[in-house]
Amino acid sequence: MSLQKTTAEIELIRNSALLVSKTLGMLASEIKPGVTTLELDKKAETFIRDHNATPGFLGLYDFPNTLCVSPNEQVVHGIPNDTPLKEGDILSIDCGVLQNGYYGDHAYTFAVGEIDPETKLLLDRTKAALYKGIEAFRTGNRVGDVGYAIQHYVEQFGYGVVRELVGHGLGTTMHEKPEMPNFGKRGRGKNFLEGMVVAIEPMINRGTHRIKQLKDGWTILTADGAPSAHFEHNIAIVNGNPELLSTFSYIYDALGISSDEENAFRTAPITT
Ligand code: MG
Ligand code: MG
Repeated sequence: MSLQKTTAEIELIRNSALLVSKTLGMLASEIKPGVTTLELDKKAETFIRDHNATPGFLGLYDFPNTLCVSPNEQVVHGIPNDTPLKEGDILSIDCGVLQNGYYGDHAYTFAVGEIDPETKLLLDRTKAALYKGIEAFRTGNRVGDVGYAIQHYVEQFGYGVVRELVGHGLGTTMHEKPEMPNFGKRGRGKNFLEGMVVAIEPMINRGTHRIKQLKDGWTILTADGAPSAHFEHNIAIVNGNPELLSTFSYIYDALGISSDEENAFRTAPITT
């Protein structure tokens, strides 16, 4: 579909994005030692269907589940299984929904119980990098400005930016133009236009940026076994500026966290 969405289309994507936000918020209080990712997957599928929507990933490119669940050294695209989570794990959950013909797609990396301070920093900085990228998603800028903002921020900590997997436009299909790399050069690449809707999704490794893939054909993990974090939002350009369509506020409500990090990117309160 067109790179530039109408106001009505943006609202439909917002509704789908917010259903993903609520799904992640529902999962947030379920993530604890002893729980399996397959249990989380079933809860998410039921929740999405109960809200008159369809899991966006299930069957997409033949993916077998509702959630991509990627613990510890897994970067993305992990398949839910019956291995219990344990204290000190981190767990990246990526979720998509299709509702009224439009997709939402976003992700959060959760701590399972208490995690070590170095890993906590990886999570905090990857999420901060996401907002650096969002800040650069505005008319007058280009794709490379978002990638640069993310890469420049995280590489100061010695982290690795995954190269092979990138963010993307979204709308009536899950993955549309433009591709949104998490690395790049300022002033390079496609111009951002009013009404564009994208997923920005830094995948940041505590060690090398290099990755490998399991024989299951899906799971991506770090080449050196170091942990990896993944945070993703859906954003539209409205009046030239980034407007957040998804929110982590349901997660924060569940976890008892207060945060003002989204305030700069939202012109209207969340109403659903
Ligand atoms: Mg995603
Ligand atoms: Mg995505």
